[in-house]
Amino acid sequence: RTDDPLQPPTPAGRAITEPGDATVLEVRALQKSFGPTQVLRSIDLTVRRGQVVALIGPSGSGKTTVLRSLNGLEVPEAGIVHFAGSDAIDFASSPSRRELLGLRDHSAMVFQQFNLFPHRTVLQNVIEGPVQVQKRPVAEATADALALLERVGLADKRHAYPFELSGGQQQRVGIVRALALKPELLLFDEPTSSLDPELVGDVLEVIRELASEGWTMVLVTHELQFASHVADNVVFMDGGVVVESGPPSEVLVNPKNDRTKQFLHRLL
Ligand code: ADP
Repeated sequence: RTDDPLQPPTPAGRAITEPGDATVLEVRALQKSFGPTQVLRSIDLTVRRGQVVALIGPSGSGKTTVLRSLNGLEVPEAGIVHFAGSDAIDFASSPSRRELLGLRDHSAMVFQQFNLFPHRTVLQNVIEGPVQVQKRPVAEATADALALLERVGLADKRHAYPFELSGGQQQRVGIVRALALKPELLLFDEPTSSLDPELVGDVLEVIRELASEGWTMVLVTHELQFASHVADNVVFMDGGVVVESGPPSEVLVNPKNDRTKQFLHRLL
Protein backbone atom coordinates (compact mmCIF):
# COMPACT_ATOMS: atom_id res chain seq x y z
CA ARG A 1 0.00 0.00 0.00
CA THR A 2 1.16 3.47 -0.76
CA ASP A 3 1.53 5.85 2.17
CA ASP A 4 0.50 8.90 0.18
CA PRO A 5 -3.13 9.63 1.12
CA LEU A 6 -3.67 11.41 -2.19
CA GLN A 7 -2.82 8.37 -4.30
CA PRO A 8 -5.00 5.33 -4.94
CA PRO A 9 -3.67 2.26 -3.11
CA THR A 10 -2.90 -0.94 -4.95
CA PRO A 11 -5.13 -3.93 -4.29
CA ALA A 12 -4.08 -5.69 -1.12
CA GLY A 13 -1.92 -8.77 -1.52
CA ARG A 14 -1.75 -8.61 -5.26
CA ALA A 15 1.30 -7.96 -7.36
CA ILE A 16 0.44 -5.69 -10.24
CA THR A 17 2.02 -7.08 -13.34
CA GLU A 18 -0.08 -5.22 -15.87
CA PRO A 19 -1.40 -1.96 -14.46
CA GLY A 20 -4.80 -1.15 -15.86
CA ASP A 21 -5.63 -4.75 -16.53
CA ALA A 22 -5.61 -6.22 -13.03
CA THR A 23 -9.07 -7.17 -11.90
CA VAL A 24 -10.11 -5.52 -8.64
CA LEU A 25 -13.59 -6.97 -8.44
CA GLU A 26 -15.64 -9.76 -9.99
CA VAL A 27 -19.37 -10.03 -9.37
CA ARG A 28 -21.24 -13.07 -10.62
CA ALA A 29 -24.97 -13.82 -10.76
CA LEU A 30 -25.91 -11.56 -7.87
CA GLN A 31 -29.53 -11.96 -6.74
CA LYS A 32 -31.42 -9.94 -4.16
CA SER A 33 -35.09 -9.70 -3.17
CA PHE A 34 -36.93 -7.37 -0.84
CA GLY A 35 -39.92 -9.40 0.32
CA PRO A 36 -41.64 -10.76 -2.77
CA THR A 37 -39.86 -8.37 -5.13
CA GLN A 38 -36.76 -9.62 -6.86
CA VAL A 39 -34.69 -6.49 -7.34
CA LEU A 40 -31.49 -8.09 -8.66
CA ARG A 41 -32.11 -11.05 -10.95
CA SER A 42 -28.58 -11.92 -11.98
CA ILE A 43 -25.95 -9.22 -12.03
CA ASP A 44 -22.46 -9.74 -13.44
CA LEU A 45 -19.84 -7.04 -13.17
CA THR A 46 -16.08 -6.85 -13.62
CA VAL A 47 -14.02 -3.89 -12.46
CA ARG A 48 -10.37 -3.56 -13.36
CA ARG A 49 -7.80 -1.45 -11.60
CA GLY A 50 -8.07 2.22 -12.56
CA GLN A 51 -11.40 1.74 -14.30
CA VAL A 52 -14.42 3.96 -13.87
CA VAL A 53 -17.62 1.96 -14.25
CA ALA A 54 -20.89 3.91 -14.49
CA LEU A 55 -24.13 2.16 -13.57
CA ILE A 56 -27.06 3.77 -15.34
CA GLY A 57 -30.71 2.84 -15.79
CA PRO A 58 -34.22 3.79 -14.79
CA SER A 59 -35.16 4.46 -11.20
CA GLY A 60 -35.84 1.19 -9.39
CA SER A 61 -33.66 -0.91 -11.70
CA GLY A 62 -31.44 -2.02 -8.80
CA LYS A 63 -28.35 0.16 -9.24
CA THR A 64 -28.13 1.31 -5.63
CA THR A 65 -28.77 -2.23 -4.41
CA VAL A 66 -25.76 -3.46 -6.42
CA LEU A 67 -23.56 -0.79 -4.88
CA ARG A 68 -24.79 -1.46 -1.35
CA SER A 69 -24.26 -5.20 -1.83
CA LEU A 70 -20.60 -4.57 -2.72
CA ASN A 71 -20.13 -2.74 0.58
CA GLY A 72 -21.99 -5.19 2.82
CA LEU A 73 -24.92 -2.81 3.36
CA GLU A 74 -27.30 -5.25 1.68
CA VAL A 75 -26.95 -9.01 1.77
CA PRO A 76 -27.87 -10.74 -1.51
CA GLU A 77 -29.40 -14.24 -1.42
CA ALA A 78 -27.13 -15.65 -4.08
CA GLY A 79 -24.17 -14.77 -6.24
CA ILE A 80 -20.49 -14.14 -5.78
CA VAL A 81 -18.55 -11.01 -4.88
CA HIS A 82 -14.81 -11.46 -5.22
CA PHE A 83 -12.31 -8.72 -4.44
CA ALA A 84 -8.73 -9.41 -5.49
CA GLY A 85 -6.64 -10.35 -2.50
CA SER A 86 -9.52 -11.85 -0.51
CA ASP A 87 -11.58 -15.01 -0.69
CA ALA A 88 -14.70 -14.83 -2.84
CA ILE A 89 -17.93 -14.39 -0.89
CA ASP A 90 -20.62 -16.82 -1.98
CA PHE A 91 -23.92 -15.41 -0.79
CA ALA A 92 -25.76 -18.68 -1.34
CA SER A 93 -23.79 -20.18 1.56
CA SER A 94 -24.74 -17.59 4.21
CA PRO A 95 -21.53 -15.62 4.71
CA SER A 96 -20.58 -14.72 8.27
CA ARG A 97 -20.83 -11.19 9.61
CA ARG A 98 -17.04 -11.07 9.62
CA GLU A 99 -16.91 -11.92 5.91
CA LEU A 100 -19.50 -9.23 5.15
CA LEU A 101 -17.62 -6.60 7.15
CA GLY A 102 -14.47 -7.71 5.32
CA LEU A 103 -15.99 -6.22 2.16
CA ARG A 104 -15.36 -2.82 3.69
CA ASP A 105 -11.63 -3.45 3.66
CA HIS A 106 -11.87 -3.04 -0.09
CA SER A 107 -14.35 -0.31 -0.83
CA ALA A 108 -15.76 2.92 0.56
CA MET A 109 -19.09 4.51 -0.26
CA VAL A 110 -20.05 8.08 -1.06
CA PHE A 111 -23.78 8.44 -0.36
CA GLN A 112 -26.46 10.43 -2.12
CA GLN A 113 -27.42 12.13 1.18
CA PHE A 114 -23.77 12.54 2.33
CA ASN A 115 -24.49 10.64 5.62
CA LEU A 116 -22.08 12.73 7.68
CA PHE A 117 -22.33 12.50 11.46
CA PRO A 118 -24.23 15.71 12.31
CA HIS A 119 -22.72 16.22 15.78
CA ARG A 120 -19.12 15.79 14.69
CA THR A 121 -16.86 18.28 12.97
CA VAL A 122 -15.59 17.79 9.45
CA LEU A 123 -12.25 16.52 10.73
CA GLN A 124 -13.91 14.15 13.23
CA ASN A 125 -16.10 12.79 10.44
CA VAL A 126 -13.08 12.11 8.25
CA ILE A 127 -10.87 10.40 10.86
CA GLU A 128 -13.67 8.30 12.41
CA GLY A 129 -13.23 5.30 10.08
CA PRO A 130 -9.42 5.33 9.92
CA VAL A 131 -9.11 5.60 13.74
CA GLN A 132 -12.08 3.55 15.02
CA VAL A 133 -12.26 0.86 12.35
CA GLN A 134 -8.76 0.72 10.89
CA LYS A 135 -7.04 1.45 14.22
CA ARG A 136 -4.66 3.95 12.68
CA PRO A 137 -2.92 6.43 14.98
CA VAL A 138 -4.90 9.65 15.45
CA ALA A 139 -1.95 11.86 14.46
CA GLU A 140 -1.41 10.00 11.20
CA ALA A 141 -5.13 9.89 10.35
CA THR A 142 -5.41 13.61 11.11
CA ALA A 143 -2.44 14.50 8.89
CA ASP A 144 -3.93 12.47 6.02
CA ALA A 145 -7.37 14.00 6.58
CA LEU A 146 -5.97 17.53 6.45
CA ALA A 147 -4.08 16.78 3.23
CA LEU A 148 -7.27 15.39 1.67
CA LEU A 149 -9.39 18.32 2.89
CA GLU A 150 -6.80 20.69 1.49
CA ARG A 151 -7.04 19.15 -1.93
CA VAL A 152 -10.82 19.64 -2.10
CA GLY A 153 -10.48 23.19 -0.78
CA LEU A 154 -12.00 22.54 2.64
CA ALA A 155 -9.06 22.57 5.06
CA ASP A 156 -10.36 25.81 6.57
CA LYS A 157 -13.66 24.06 7.37
CA ARG A 158 -12.08 21.30 9.42
CA HIS A 159 -13.68 22.47 12.67
CA ALA A 160 -17.07 23.24 11.11
CA TYR A 161 -20.13 21.05 11.61
CA PRO A 162 -21.99 19.60 8.61
CA PHE A 163 -24.96 21.96 9.04
CA GLU A 164 -22.60 24.90 8.56
CA LEU A 165 -21.63 23.68 5.09
CA SER A 166 -23.38 23.80 1.73
CA GLY A 167 -24.53 20.52 0.20
CA GLY A 168 -21.62 20.63 -2.23
CA GLN A 169 -19.14 21.12 0.61
CA GLN A 170 -20.76 18.31 2.61
CA GLN A 171 -20.45 15.98 -0.34
CA ARG A 172 -16.79 16.89 -0.81
CA VAL A 173 -16.32 15.94 2.86
CA GLY A 174 -18.19 12.72 2.06
CA ILE A 175 -15.68 12.03 -0.71
CA VAL A 176 -12.72 12.85 1.56
CA ARG A 177 -14.13 10.54 4.23
CA ALA A 178 -14.20 7.71 1.68
CA LEU A 179 -10.68 8.49 0.43
CA ALA A 180 -9.35 8.55 4.00
CA LEU A 181 -10.08 4.82 4.23
CA LYS A 182 -7.62 4.24 1.35
CA PRO A 183 -10.02 1.88 -0.41
CA GLU A 184 -9.12 0.06 -3.60
CA LEU A 185 -12.58 0.84 -4.90
CA LEU A 186 -14.69 3.96 -4.47
CA LEU A 187 -18.46 3.55 -4.69
CA PHE A 188 -20.52 6.62 -5.57
CA ASP A 189 -24.29 6.40 -5.14
CA GLU A 190 -25.79 9.26 -7.17
CA PRO A 191 -23.37 11.66 -5.50
CA THR A 192 -24.87 14.83 -6.98
CA SER A 193 -28.58 14.07 -7.10
CA SER A 194 -29.43 15.80 -3.83
CA LEU A 195 -27.43 18.94 -4.68
CA ASP A 196 -28.73 22.24 -5.95
CA PRO A 197 -27.80 22.53 -9.63
CA GLU A 198 -25.18 25.21 -9.06
CA LEU A 199 -23.30 22.95 -6.62
CA VAL A 200 -23.16 19.89 -8.86
CA GLY A 201 -20.18 21.05 -10.92
CA ASP A 202 -17.69 21.25 -8.03
CA VAL A 203 -18.47 17.72 -6.89
CA LEU A 204 -18.29 16.29 -10.41
CA GLU A 205 -14.96 18.06 -10.87
CA VAL A 206 -13.52 16.30 -7.78
CA ILE A 207 -14.74 12.93 -9.09
CA ARG A 208 -13.30 13.69 -12.53
CA GLU A 209 -9.91 14.47 -10.96
CA LEU A 210 -9.96 11.27 -8.92
CA ALA A 211 -10.74 9.30 -12.07
CA SER A 212 -7.86 10.88 -13.95
CA GLU A 213 -5.52 10.10 -11.05
CA GLY A 214 -6.28 6.42 -11.43
CA TRP A 215 -8.77 5.73 -8.65
CA THR A 216 -10.96 2.75 -9.38
CA MET A 217 -14.64 3.53 -9.03
CA VAL A 218 -18.19 2.36 -9.56
CA LEU A 219 -20.56 5.26 -9.97
CA VAL A 220 -24.36 5.21 -9.99
CA THR A 221 -25.36 8.32 -11.86
CA HIS A 222 -28.07 10.06 -13.84
CA GLU A 223 -25.52 12.49 -15.26
CA LEU A 224 -25.07 10.83 -18.62
CA GLN A 225 -22.95 13.63 -20.03
CA PHE A 226 -20.58 13.18 -17.09
CA ALA A 227 -20.63 9.39 -17.43
CA SER A 228 -19.74 9.68 -21.10
CA HIS A 229 -16.67 11.73 -20.18
CA VAL A 230 -15.28 9.84 -17.19
CA ALA A 231 -16.47 6.25 -17.55
CA ASP A 232 -14.40 3.54 -19.19
CA ASN A 233 -17.39 1.24 -19.03
CA VAL A 234 -21.09 2.00 -18.91
CA VAL A 235 -23.44 -0.64 -17.52
CA PHE A 236 -27.10 -0.17 -18.37
CA MET A 237 -29.42 -1.93 -15.92
CA ASP A 238 -33.16 -2.45 -16.18
CA GLY A 239 -35.40 -4.69 -14.11
CA GLY A 240 -32.56 -6.16 -12.07
CA VAL A 241 -30.42 -7.31 -14.99
CA VAL A 242 -27.55 -5.84 -16.97
CA VAL A 243 -29.12 -5.16 -20.34
CA GLU A 244 -26.04 -3.82 -22.06
CA SER A 245 -22.51 -2.79 -21.12
CA GLY A 246 -19.46 -1.43 -22.87
CA PRO A 247 -17.55 1.78 -23.51
CA PRO A 248 -19.64 5.00 -23.51
CA SER A 249 -19.06 5.34 -27.26
CA GLU A 250 -21.09 2.16 -27.71
CA VAL A 251 -23.67 2.10 -24.91
CA LEU A 252 -24.44 5.82 -24.85
CA VAL A 253 -23.89 6.69 -28.50
CA ASN A 254 -24.72 3.49 -30.39
CA PRO A 255 -26.80 1.32 -28.07
CA LYS A 256 -27.72 -2.09 -29.45
CA ASN A 257 -30.57 -2.97 -27.15
CA ASP A 258 -34.04 -1.47 -27.57
CA ARG A 259 -34.43 -0.89 -23.84
CA THR A 260 -31.19 1.09 -23.77
CA LYS A 261 -32.34 3.10 -26.77
CA GLN A 262 -35.68 3.89 -25.12
CA PHE A 263 -34.02 4.90 -21.86
CA LEU A 264 -31.57 7.25 -23.58
CA HIS A 265 -34.28 8.62 -25.87
CA ARG A 266 -36.45 9.57 -22.89
CA LEU A 267 -33.58 11.54 -21.36
CA LEU A 268 -32.66 13.44 -24.52
P1 ADP B 1 -32.13 2.24 -8.37
O1 ADP B 1 -30.87 2.59 -7.61
O2 ADP B 1 -31.84 1.70 -9.73
O3 ADP B 1 -33.13 3.36 -8.39
P2 ADP B 1 -32.68 0.56 -6.10
O4 ADP B 1 -31.58 -0.43 -6.02
O5 ADP B 1 -32.62 1.75 -5.20
O6 ADP B 1 -32.83 1.03 -7.61
O7 ADP B 1 -34.08 -0.13 -5.83
C1 ADP B 1 -34.55 -1.21 -6.59
C2 ADP B 1 -35.89 -1.62 -6.06
O8 ADP B 1 -35.75 -2.16 -4.76
C3 ADP B 1 -36.89 -0.47 -5.93
O9 ADP B 1 -38.15 -0.93 -6.36
C4 ADP B 1 -36.88 -0.17 -4.47
O10 ADP B 1 -38.12 0.34 -4.06
C5 ADP B 1 -36.61 -1.52 -3.85
N1 ADP B 1 -35.91 -1.42 -2.56
C6 ADP B 1 -34.68 -0.91 -2.37
N2 ADP B 1 -34.31 -0.99 -1.08
C7 ADP B 1 -35.35 -1.57 -0.42
C8 ADP B 1 -35.60 -1.94 0.93
N3 ADP B 1 -34.69 -1.75 1.90
N4 ADP B 1 -36.79 -2.53 1.22
C9 ADP B 1 -37.70 -2.73 0.25
N5 ADP B 1 -37.54 -2.43 -1.04
C10 ADP B 1 -36.38 -1.85 -1.38
